[in-house]
Amino acid sequence: MKYCYECGTPLTLRFLEQEGDTPYCEKCGCWRFPIFSTAVSMIVLSPDRSKILLIQQYGRPSNILVAGYVSKGESAEQTVVREVQEEIGLSVNSLCFNRSEYFAKSNTLMLNFSCTATSESLEHLNRQEVDQAAWFSWEDAEKAIRPDSLAQRFLLHFLERHRPDSGT
Ligand SMILES: [Zn+2]
Repeated sequence: MKYCYECGTPLTLRFLEQEGDTPYCEKCGCWRFPIFSTAVSMIVLSPDRSKILLIQQYGRPSNILVAGYVSKGESAEQTVVREVQEEIGLSVNSLCFNRSEYFAKSNTLMLNFSCTATSESLEHLNRQEVDQAAWFSWEDAEKAIRPDSLAQRFLLHFLERHRPDSGT
Protein backbone atom coordinates (compact mmCIF):
# COMPACT_ATOMS: atom_id res chain seq x y z
CA MET A 1 0.00 0.00 0.00
CA LYS A 2 1.61 3.27 -1.20
CA TYR A 3 -1.17 5.81 -0.70
CA CYS A 4 -3.66 6.57 2.06
CA TYR A 5 -6.97 4.83 1.25
CA GLU A 6 -8.93 7.79 2.68
CA CYS A 7 -7.21 10.83 1.16
CA GLY A 8 -4.67 9.52 -1.40
CA THR A 9 -1.64 11.13 0.27
CA PRO A 10 1.61 9.14 -0.15
CA LEU A 11 2.20 7.14 3.02
CA THR A 12 5.35 7.46 5.09
CA LEU A 13 6.81 4.85 7.40
CA ARG A 14 6.82 5.55 11.12
CA PHE A 15 8.12 3.39 13.87
CA LEU A 16 5.37 1.85 15.97
CA GLU A 17 6.22 -0.04 19.11
CA GLN A 18 5.52 -3.79 18.79
CA GLU A 19 4.90 -3.36 15.03
CA GLY A 20 8.09 -1.84 13.60
CA ASP A 21 7.98 0.54 10.60
CA THR A 22 4.31 1.03 9.78
CA PRO A 23 2.60 3.05 7.00
CA TYR A 24 1.33 6.40 8.28
CA CYS A 25 -0.70 9.20 6.67
CA GLU A 26 0.61 12.62 7.71
CA LYS A 27 -2.54 14.38 6.49
CA CYS A 28 -5.05 12.16 8.29
CA GLY A 29 -2.74 11.61 11.24
CA CYS A 30 -3.56 7.89 11.12
CA TRP A 31 -1.75 4.58 10.86
CA ARG A 32 -2.73 2.73 7.70
CA PHE A 33 -2.47 -0.98 8.33
CA PRO A 34 -2.71 -3.30 5.29
CA ILE A 35 -6.22 -4.09 4.06
CA PHE A 36 -7.30 -7.63 3.20
CA SER A 37 -10.52 -9.61 2.99
CA THR A 38 -11.66 -12.14 5.57
CA ALA A 39 -13.45 -15.34 4.70
CA VAL A 40 -14.51 -18.50 6.51
CA SER A 41 -14.55 -22.11 5.38
CA MET A 42 -16.35 -24.89 7.19
CA ILE A 43 -15.85 -28.54 7.97
CA VAL A 44 -19.56 -29.36 8.32
CA LEU A 45 -20.15 -32.55 10.32
CA SER A 46 -23.31 -34.67 10.28
CA PRO A 47 -25.45 -34.61 13.47
CA ASP A 48 -23.67 -37.74 14.82
CA ARG A 49 -20.32 -36.32 13.60
CA SER A 50 -19.55 -39.50 11.62
CA LYS A 51 -19.64 -37.77 8.22
CA ILE A 52 -18.22 -34.64 6.60
CA LEU A 53 -19.92 -32.52 3.94
CA LEU A 54 -17.98 -31.77 0.76
CA ILE A 55 -19.29 -29.75 -2.15
CA GLN A 56 -18.51 -29.07 -5.79
CA GLN A 57 -18.84 -25.56 -7.18
CA TYR A 58 -18.27 -23.35 -10.25
CA GLY A 59 -18.46 -26.30 -12.66
CA ARG A 60 -15.28 -27.88 -11.28
CA PRO A 61 -15.29 -31.58 -10.47
CA SER A 62 -13.18 -31.25 -7.29
CA ASN A 63 -14.50 -31.60 -3.73
CA ILE A 64 -14.06 -28.57 -1.50
CA LEU A 65 -15.42 -27.12 1.76
CA VAL A 66 -18.31 -24.69 2.07
CA ALA A 67 -16.86 -21.16 2.28
CA GLY A 68 -17.80 -17.50 2.08
CA TYR A 69 -16.65 -13.96 2.74
CA VAL A 70 -17.26 -12.25 6.07
CA SER A 71 -19.55 -9.23 5.61
CA LYS A 72 -18.59 -5.95 7.24
CA GLY A 73 -20.00 -5.82 10.76
CA GLU A 74 -20.41 -9.58 10.99
CA SER A 75 -18.46 -11.95 13.25
CA ALA A 76 -16.75 -14.95 11.66
CA GLU A 77 -19.09 -17.20 13.66
CA GLN A 78 -22.14 -15.44 12.20
CA THR A 79 -20.72 -15.92 8.69
CA VAL A 80 -20.31 -19.66 9.29
CA VAL A 81 -23.97 -20.03 10.28
CA ARG A 82 -25.24 -17.75 7.47
CA GLU A 83 -23.18 -19.32 4.66
CA VAL A 84 -24.09 -22.93 5.52
CA GLN A 85 -27.75 -21.86 5.67
CA GLU A 86 -27.57 -19.98 2.35
CA GLU A 87 -25.59 -22.56 0.38
CA ILE A 88 -26.66 -25.87 1.91
CA GLY A 89 -29.96 -25.00 3.62
CA LEU A 90 -28.80 -26.47 6.94
CA SER A 91 -28.58 -25.10 10.48
CA VAL A 92 -25.29 -25.63 12.29
CA ASN A 93 -24.10 -25.37 15.89
CA SER A 94 -21.09 -26.38 18.01
CA LEU A 95 -18.74 -24.11 16.07
CA CYS A 96 -15.07 -24.70 16.80
CA PHE A 97 -12.12 -22.81 15.34
CA ASN A 98 -9.74 -25.14 13.49
CA ARG A 99 -6.98 -23.07 11.84
CA SER A 100 -6.35 -20.17 9.46
CA GLU A 101 -4.22 -19.40 6.44
CA TYR A 102 -3.59 -16.29 4.35
CA PHE A 103 -4.45 -16.81 0.68
CA ALA A 104 -2.33 -14.39 -1.36
CA LYS A 105 -4.17 -14.92 -4.67
CA SER A 106 -7.29 -13.19 -3.38
CA ASN A 107 -5.62 -11.21 -0.54
CA THR A 108 -7.83 -13.07 1.93
CA LEU A 109 -7.35 -14.37 5.43
CA MET A 110 -9.26 -17.65 5.53
CA LEU A 111 -10.54 -18.82 8.92
CA ASN A 112 -11.54 -22.46 9.10
CA PHE A 113 -14.13 -23.77 11.57
CA SER A 114 -15.72 -27.11 12.23
CA CYS A 115 -19.46 -27.14 12.97
CA THR A 116 -22.22 -29.69 13.37
CA ALA A 117 -25.36 -29.71 11.22
CA THR A 118 -28.73 -30.35 12.84
CA SER A 119 -29.83 -32.51 9.88
CA GLU A 120 -28.30 -34.53 7.02
CA SER A 121 -30.95 -33.41 4.55
CA LEU A 122 -29.58 -31.90 1.35
CA GLU A 123 -32.95 -31.16 -0.23
CA HIS A 124 -32.66 -27.40 0.32
CA LEU A 125 -29.30 -27.12 -1.41
CA ASN A 126 -28.84 -23.79 -3.22
CA ARG A 127 -28.40 -25.12 -6.77
CA GLN A 128 -27.36 -21.70 -8.08
CA GLU A 129 -24.28 -21.65 -5.86
CA VAL A 130 -23.52 -25.33 -5.32
CA ASP A 131 -23.32 -27.94 -8.10
CA GLN A 132 -23.24 -30.92 -5.81
CA ALA A 133 -23.02 -31.73 -2.09
CA ALA A 134 -22.51 -35.08 -0.41
CA TRP A 135 -21.67 -36.63 2.96
CA PHE A 136 -18.42 -38.59 3.21
CA SER A 137 -17.01 -40.79 5.96
CA TRP A 138 -13.89 -39.24 7.55
CA GLU A 139 -11.67 -41.67 5.60
CA ASP A 140 -13.45 -40.99 2.30
CA ALA A 141 -13.41 -37.22 2.85
CA GLU A 142 -9.65 -37.34 3.37
CA LYS A 143 -9.26 -39.14 0.01
CA ALA A 144 -11.87 -37.08 -1.87
CA ILE A 145 -10.88 -33.54 -0.90
CA ARG A 146 -9.16 -31.51 -3.62
CA PRO A 147 -5.40 -32.24 -3.46
CA ASP A 148 -2.91 -29.45 -2.64
CA SER A 149 -5.67 -27.05 -1.66
CA LEU A 150 -6.33 -24.83 1.33
CA ALA A 151 -9.38 -27.02 1.99
CA GLN A 152 -7.21 -30.12 2.12
CA ARG A 153 -4.77 -28.57 4.60
CA PHE A 154 -7.64 -27.47 6.85
CA LEU A 155 -9.29 -30.89 6.68
CA LEU A 156 -6.09 -32.85 7.35
CA HIS A 157 -5.32 -30.65 10.35
CA PHE A 158 -8.83 -31.25 11.71
CA LEU A 159 -8.70 -35.03 11.14
CA GLU A 160 -5.28 -35.25 12.80
CA ARG A 161 -6.59 -33.54 15.92
CA HIS A 162 -9.96 -35.26 16.15
CA ARG A 163 -9.47 -38.86 15.03
CA PRO A 164 -10.93 -41.15 17.72
CA ASP A 165 -7.59 -42.99 17.98
CA SER A 166 -5.49 -39.79 18.28
CA GLY A 167 -6.12 -39.62 22.02
CA THR A 168 -7.46 -36.07 21.98
ZN1 LIG B 1 -4.87 10.19 4.59
